[in-house]
Amino acid sequence: MRLSRYFLPVLKETPAEAQIVSHRLMLRAGMIKQASAGIYSWLPLGFRVLERIQQIVHEEQERAGHVPLLMPTLQSADLWRESGRYDAYGEEMLRIKDRGGRDLLFSPTAEELITDIFRSYVKSYKDLPLTLYQIQWKFRDEIRPRFGVMRGREFLMKDGYNFDLTKEAALHAYNRHLVSYLRTYERMGLKAIPMRADSGPIGGEDTHEFLVLAETGESEVFYDSAVTDLTFGDRVIDYDSVEECAGVLEEFTSRYARTDETHDPALFDAIPEERRRTARGIEVGQIFYFGTKYSEPLGATVQDAEGNKVPVHMGSHGIGVSRLLGALIEANHDDKGIIWPEGVTPFHCGIVNLKQGDAAADAACENLYDQLRTAGLEPLYDDRDERAGAKFATMDLIGLPWRITVGPRGLKNGVVELTSRRTGESEEMAPEAAVQRIV
Ligand code: ATP
Ligand code: MG
Ligand code: MG
Ligand code: MG
Repeated sequence: MRLSRYFLPVLKETPAEAQIVSHRLMLRAGMIKQASAGIYSWLPLGFRVLERIQQIVHEEQERAGHVPLLMPTLQSADLWRESGRYDAYGEEMLRIKDRGGRDLLFSPTAEELITDIFRSYVKSYKDLPLTLYQIQWKFRDEIRPRFGVMRGREFLMKDGYNFDLTKEAALHAYNRHLVSYLRTYERMGLKAIPMRADSGPIGGEDTHEFLVLAETGESEVFYDSAVTDLTFGDRVIDYDSVEECAGVLEEFTSRYARTDETHDPALFDAIPEERRRTARGIEVGQIFYFGTKYSEPLGATVQDAEGNKVPVHMGSHGIGVSRLLGALIEANHDDKGIIWPEGVTPFHCGIVNLKQGDAAADAACENLYDQLRTAGLEPLYDDRDERAGAKFATMDLIGLPWRITVGPRGLKNGVVELTSRRTGESEEMAPEAAVQRIV
């Protein structure tokens, strides 16, 4: 992408309404624009990151054997009356009437609709196990939308639902989700810790939330510092293996790590004092097992091997896709701007031309631009006729992992400058060497 033809409305001033750093930086970097309270337009740079996050989520869900689909944002109230949640959900549900006077709602989550799809088609245990998921916009009329995309009213969520014959099979699906979530967050360069939590209005028995530690987080968390040393890494796992998935759950959840709703001071105090931590966290996902809570009232049954009709065991599993942008920035920034992890960066590398219009500099930049694209990377070439200082400030603000600086003086010696956004270190080298380093 050439910056002269892109749409990157960066702001010089710090917007007064933004209370936390991720919200400030998203506004300043021209990633989002508020449309109304808690509802945002995704400008090109923000949209690119949102898409990269979605791509990782899709890849990891499909790796775990889960099947994507797409359900509507507007749903009939009738299904929610069947489950009893139309009244129970309360004021967070945005209720709408169509011209015929029928009650609709903007989906805050989709247990009812997915269960209706399931019951319409699946009749036999032979079609199980099944996990369906979507990445779709949700609406919750939050009482205090704030912190930008972190607590929006309209927000993008991955929501997945497993259907299994037995409780044991559904718990395997739960564990499979835990594993896939660990991989998903790690690929984004994010440490998200599974913590035992409270199930809230989704209901259910077993549940873990994934929390990113950050001072601006809205949840209070208590944990054994040993949990922060765990990483999933690049180990290979057989998602169909009950033992392997259960082993990962055991490894990642046996130490104390809880949110305030389930916090148990007696258990916490049993941890050696030097490992006891109290902190704040951002909830970036949650997994639930809730058994037959929806399948019974909605009549989602299958025939088992003996010919009996039994309600399926279910769970639901969410990732806060749009909230993740905020969490990623809270965890990756400095006083100059964002520092994107490689896994989610909107562009891989910036090219700064120090003297636009200089024949040698222009040609070297064009060359680099082509080489990077041929190597499968997406560069952002600042080809504007701007001061070097302004170009550097923009690159630092939008936080691409690498910057290649090209100027007539360096080119006389055959070199450009490669700078790492994270370390700030710069090194001079031949243009080809810079490309090699980034690929
Ligand atoms: P919170 O406790 O922050 O209100 P929740 O527990 O109500 O979230 P879930 O029903 O578990 O949310 O939804 C799954 C995920 O969707 C959450 O883990 C979170 O990352 C994200 N999410 C929930 N509400 C919002 C929101 N208002 N804005 C952005 N993301 C949200
Ligand atoms: Mg909530
Ligand atoms: Mg919550
Ligand atoms: Mg939750």
